Amino acid sequence: MPNLNSKILVLANWKVNLSLAETLALVKKLLTGVAKLKGNFELGLCPTFPALPGVAKLLQKKKVLLGAQNVFWKPNGPYTGEISPSVLRELGVKYVIVGHSERRQYLKETDIMIRQKIAATLAEGLTPVLCVGETFAERQAGQKDIVVARQISAALTGITLSPGHELVIAYEPVWVIGSGRAVAPEEAFYIARVIRQSLIDIFSTRMVDSQIKIIYGGSVNTSNIASFVGRGKLGGVLVGGASLEAKSFLALLKQL
Ligand code: PEP
Repeated sequence: MPNLNSKILVLANWKVNLSLAETLALVKKLLTGVAKLKGNFELGLCPTFPALPGVAKLLQKKKVLLGAQNVFWKPNGPYTGEISPSVLRELGVKYVIVGHSERRQYLKETDIMIRQKIAATLAEGLTPVLCVGETFAERQAGQKDIVVARQISAALTGITLSPGHELVIAYEPVWVIGSGRAVAPEEAFYIARVIRQSLIDIFSTRMVDSQIKIIYGGSVNTSNIASFVGRGKLGGVLVGGASLEAKSFLALLKQL
């Protein structure tokens, strides 16, 4: 499967699991450890919003990139509690997770909201990480492919990918997130092909191959990461639980 650049993208989604002090301590340990690694990967860290300025400071002049877990779709205005893409850019964010299943479930994010977030993120020159994936019930109903294709179409139809824009699609089967059991790599590769076809129905094949990266997320750990990424496999991974502790996360990165 062709990909935008040859580097394996590893995004750490820390959700709401760490205090500010724990976040900064983890970043410091990771920076020390990553400096010793030679793997062909690009690492992005997605802490909570309040931790972004502190983490941004630590990442200055480092190769590790900053990511956000969410964004609002308006640049400014009367939207109490929201964070705009322009503020994220000011903070030095590159990657923005959009449409994570936890937000679809608990915050009732709709396809329309997700599409607006993607458009606003791209307009600011940031890279959206669009999360798609089926629930266990949808899978049991035999609708896995249809659900993922529908999510891609709903989020991206009408979106303009200009030259220089990048987009990441994370296939995250909802039922394996945080379960400790990933799907079989072949299943992720199969859905990546479904995603690619859905993308080609919206954008040109050339744009899909040069501007969009498809990654996998869901219980990725040190033991299984190598089976998902690398030549002929996927473009990267989104890692939750296994990115929360420096020693084991560095061991995971060492596999690359
Ligand atoms: C996630 O929620 O994006 C995720 C990949 O979590 P975990 O790795 O813990 O399954």
